[in-house]
Amino acid sequence: MLTHKVNTGFFLAVLIFLAAYSFYQPLAWWVLIIPVLLWLTIAVIGSGLVQSGYHIKTYNRIQTTDKKIAVTFDDGPTPSTEKVLELLKKYNVKATFFCIGKQIEKHPDILQKIINEGHTVGNHTYNHLPQMNFFSTDKILTELKSTDALIQHYILKPLLFRPPYGVTNPRLARALKTTGHYVVGWNIRSLDAVIEDENKIFNRIATRLAPGSIILLHDTSQKTVNVLEQLLILLQQQHYEAVTVNQLLNIPAYEK
Ligand SMILES: [Zn+2]
Repeated sequence: MLTHKVNTGFFLAVLIFLAAYSFYQPLAWWVLIIPVLLWLTIAVIGSGLVQSGYHIKTYNRIQTTDKKIAVTFDDGPTPSTEKVLELLKKYNVKATFFCIGKQIEKHPDILQKIINEGHTVGNHTYNHLPQMNFFSTDKILTELKSTDALIQHYILKPLLFRPPYGVTNPRLARALKTTGHYVVGWNIRSLDAVIEDENKIFNRIATRLAPGSIILLHDTSQKTVNVLEQLLILLQQQHYEAVTVNQLLNIPAYEK
């Protein structure tokens, strides 16, 4: 796996080599620009793709032939979560909810309901801010710990974390080493918060469906509720078992 350390180490080695070489043979300026651009391109792509494991190990799916998958919901709890819970109950499916701290403060009763109905709850930061990528490690730690504390109030301390937008960086990686969370990504991104057409969202999932997958949805709109019912019917027809992400990955969801 190409990590940030390997990329940066290789880049520095190339720069040292070029600097040494330029003592013997002067180099054009653009020869130095090429490795810088390559390093930057790899760093930007690696940071933006949660599956890359570029800054920290991430869990995105499992290799299996068993027809098991995990349905995950980000950014709740919201009033739409209640409809999601009704559907999950109707189709007898257990799912995972990566909750935002400030949303838990708004809808504590819904969080309690998620837990009572046997679903897993994970940490999705307190504020869910795009600018978190510029936060210090300490400020990121506050985002993580305050949400842990909120969840811990209802059940145990959560061990699952999902980075907002799937973006990671060295400071987030450092913070997560301190907290010890498992970083859970996905391999099927529904884009339910971006695409308007419900059929398109459903088709994105249906065409990518495979054993061991982790599906990313958002319990924030009626649109997703509608797509979810179609998805649950499809899973039933194709004899898939939907389990919590910790069950699929065989890792603990909470601290003992
Ligand atoms: Zn999110």
